[in-house]
Amino acid sequence: MRQPPGVRFPSCLTALLIVAVGGLATLALVDRDPRWLLPAAALALLWHGYRQWLLADVERRLWLDYARAVKALNQLDERAVAVAGVAGATKIFSGAHVELDVVSDEGTARRYRGDPTGTILIDPADDAPTGGELARQSLVFADEHLGELRVRLPSPVVLRPYQAAALSAYGEALAAALHNAAADRRRRTLVAETRHAATHDPLTDLLNRAALIQQGDDALRRATAEQPVALTLIDIDNFAELNETLGHGAGDDLLRLVADRLRGVQRPGELLGRTGDDEFALLAVASPVVPAPRRHRRAGPAPHALRRARQIAELLADTGEVADVRVSAEISVGVAVAEAGTVDLAELLRRADVALHQAKADGGVASYDSVRDPADTDHLTVLAELREALATDDQLVLVVQPAVDLVTGAPIGVEALIRWQHPRRGRLGPAEFVRAVENSDLLGPFTRYVIDKALAVAAEWARRGVTVPVSVNLSPRSLFDARLPLDVAELLRHHRVPAHRLVLEITETVEVSELKIIDEVLGALQALGVQLAVDDFGTGFSSLAFLTRVAVDELKVDRSFVRRMAESPEAAAVVRATIALGRELGLRVIAEGVETAEQRQVLAGLGCAAAQGYHFFRPMPADKALTVLRRLLAASGAQVLPLPADGAS
Ligand code: C2E
Ligand code: CA
Ligand code: CA
Repeated sequence: MRQPPGVRFPSCLTALLIVAVGGLATLALVDRDPRWLLPAAALALLWHGYRQWLLADVERRLWLDYARAVKALNQLDERAVAVAGVAGATKIFSGAHVELDVVSDEGTARRYRGDPTGTILIDPADDAPTGGELARQSLVFADEHLGELRVRLPSPVVLRPYQAAALSAYGEALAAALHNAAADRRRRTLVAETRHAATHDPLTDLLNRAALIQQGDDALRRATAEQPVALTLIDIDNFAELNETLGHGAGDDLLRLVADRLRGVQRPGELLGRTGDDEFALLAVASPVVPAPRRHRRAGPAPHALRRARQIAELLADTGEVADVRVSAEISVGVAVAEAGTVDLAELLRRADVALHQAKADGGVASYDSVRDPADTDHLTVLAELREALATDDQLVLVVQPAVDLVTGAPIGVEALIRWQHPRRGRLGPAEFVRAVENSDLLGPFTRYVIDKALAVAAEWARRGVTVPVSVNLSPRSLFDARLPLDVAELLRHHRVPAHRLVLEITETVEVSELKIIDEVLGALQALGVQLAVDDFGTGFSSLAFLTRVAVDELKVDRSFVRRMAESPEAAAVVRATIALGRELGLRVIAEGVETAEQRQVLAGLGCAAAQGYHFFRPMPADKALTVLRRLLAASGAQVLPLPADGAS
């Protein structure tokens, strides 16, 4: 047991000594014999010496505890200092209950209470101290009142001078430590506030433009290379006008209102900033299951992002109350989508800005289109040259890629894919020119050209006894063209190919899902007997809604799902659901982009009937394809039709 403070000694020893000294003294008196006095005096002296020795030991141990306790105060966190302060005091004044009130910057106090068992409790210091304490020490440093330390012992005793000295010195050390911790906290708060002020817009508390760019670039770097990222720019068109009519205070209120609503739709991980006076930006790095926008994808790059942009536009246009006046903000939204590895944030902002300008011109919401990007002049050259190519008839060639039945290995069709043998630039893929064509007056002639070539191939094969369907890719914009069914009918007649042997692949897009003309064009094509396929199925604007409007014959599972189905349960679910849907609706389902035997096996396991991809065949010239098809037909036992083929001659 440790020696408690105060003047306490083992009481039985003290009693024994008093009895012994008293006894000897009594004997000396009774016997009138002074010899008894000598041992009595010696004992008294011994007792005194022992007592002094014990006292010195207690004091020595107190200062040792004091040194340890002061050392433990050497921390920068206020709470840690306070806890160490109380723990130290309960050691120095052992057996004591200790209370420490620490005053915060706001003037409120927190109370730390420690008892001899070492337990420390922390409460707000709402009540007055319990009182009855042995000693209290006000904690002051550099004229700043930091709190109070109170020490209470089980039985009231008087503090010895060295204990009083220890308490006062400890109080000073504790005050200094608390002062340092508070100063450090203030410094950190200041740094955080300064940093926040440097990265945030003071009016709306959203990220400012510079911070959005910096943090956006960090997010782009962290994303995996193919991950799609979408930047949405939101602009209040009539802000200047509202600002003028309602006053600047109301203008500020409006901006705050918009900022708050945007905060409401912001998802975890997204960055939201104010990038201009009346312009806001939202950066989303999408989930990996959302397919990345391939540059050549005809569907337009961003059905998901575009849908979200529309929701945001509606949300913001909904009238709000500003300065007791109902105001109606006119909102334009521009969206740019890219793969994380291909752009930095400044470029993404620039593209979203191009889209925003387009949105302002057309009204509402627009996504970035390189063809309408004034900084991207390439497409003008491309178009001029392509016009020539279409006229000369020897630069644009079709290659074909067979699709096969996964059970029998028989070919179920071929897809025609365009290539441009450019006189200077060499062989170009569709990614390098189809987008430009789609947005020009060349689309009609180009589409007719491809269908013509494809039907010429089909007719030639039929003459040689091979009658597989040929698929042609259509640009969504071709579906606005009321002449298309007439052209197709004319070409089918010209080549004498039965309509059902032509499959037109369409990709649903925002436009496809909205306009009436599309229904008419698709209806007319179906009336001809042409087959329809939904290309890139699963990536589109609203696949199921589309299927209820257009009776199609085939679904092509987008290759992004096939590629990811092994590691992504979501991608596998899309593949499985498409197969089930096809079975339910009686449609052919073809998995695209099958590159490995493993993918083939997984697909077969899922009950997928047909597939296309490098694992089977790369796109190849039509004459080579004829040989391949013949071999496949023979090997699978499928019938090779005798000459002449049905209706082809
Ligand atoms: P798509 O309709 O999805 O066509 C399939 C694309 O995937 C083709 O690229 C093909 O070469 C490629 N592919 C086939 N198997 C695999 C595989 O196993 N792995 C991978 N990674 N890719 C595979 P291509 O020929 O470059 O065509 C790209 C896109 O251009 C086509 O995508 C289609 O949307 C468009 N396109 C092609 N020809 C035409 C055309 O004549 N007219 C129009 N409007 N668009 C066309
Ligand atoms: Ca296709
Ligand atoms: Ca496709």
